[in-house]
Amino acid sequence: MSIPYKNRYPFPLITLPYSYCAKEPYIDTETMKLHHSRHLKTYVDTLNKTLAPHPNYHSWSLESLIIKNFELPEPIRHTVKNNAGGVYNHNLFFAQLASPTPPPLITAITEKFGTLDSFKASFTTAALSVFGSGYAWLTSDSTNTLHIITTPNQTTPLEQNLQPLLTLDVWEHAYYLKHHNLRLNYINAWLELMF
Ligand code: MN
Repeated sequence: MSIPYKNRYPFPLITLPYSYCAKEPYIDTETMKLHHSRHLKTYVDTLNKTLAPHPNYHSWSLESLIIKNFELPEPIRHTVKNNAGGVYNHNLFFAQLASPTPPPLITAITEKFGTLDSFKASFTTAALSVFGSGYAWLTSDSTNTLHIITTPNQTTPLEQNLQPLLTLDVWEHAYYLKHHNLRLNYINAWLELMF
């Protein structure tokens, strides 16, 4: 799940391979527009602005800025981690919406979780359990075993040495305009879109 983009400073705002209204009625046009053109853009702009005076790190990828964050100068470490994570997580979130879950991944999911409905139930429980802002993920580890995890704020699965396969942004900005406080309705809409 990826949209090709220049993966080093200055990081671009990815161009979505679909229109803001393309995911109606599952994700409403206004939410898609604000989420991409304002929320993601703010992460991109803040990351670039923070890295601008530090040319030593202009060749680093998003993944390096996240995984090797401790190597950065202390004053920018926290801001880079939050914003590189914000760009990385959103790039994945928007990319995966381009098409339904690929059949080989659905096969792997049913092998691991028994049935697709069983996976959906577990994923929903995880997504509902995120307190405050964060993400629910389907990930794979180094032995290709699947795991459902959650991460707070803009933390990614990379810090746990897990590779992301599916991600659901459960920050309120991802659903509040359409679903208000009803996160479950948003999770169900996303599952319908992805499966
Ligand atoms: Mn978001």
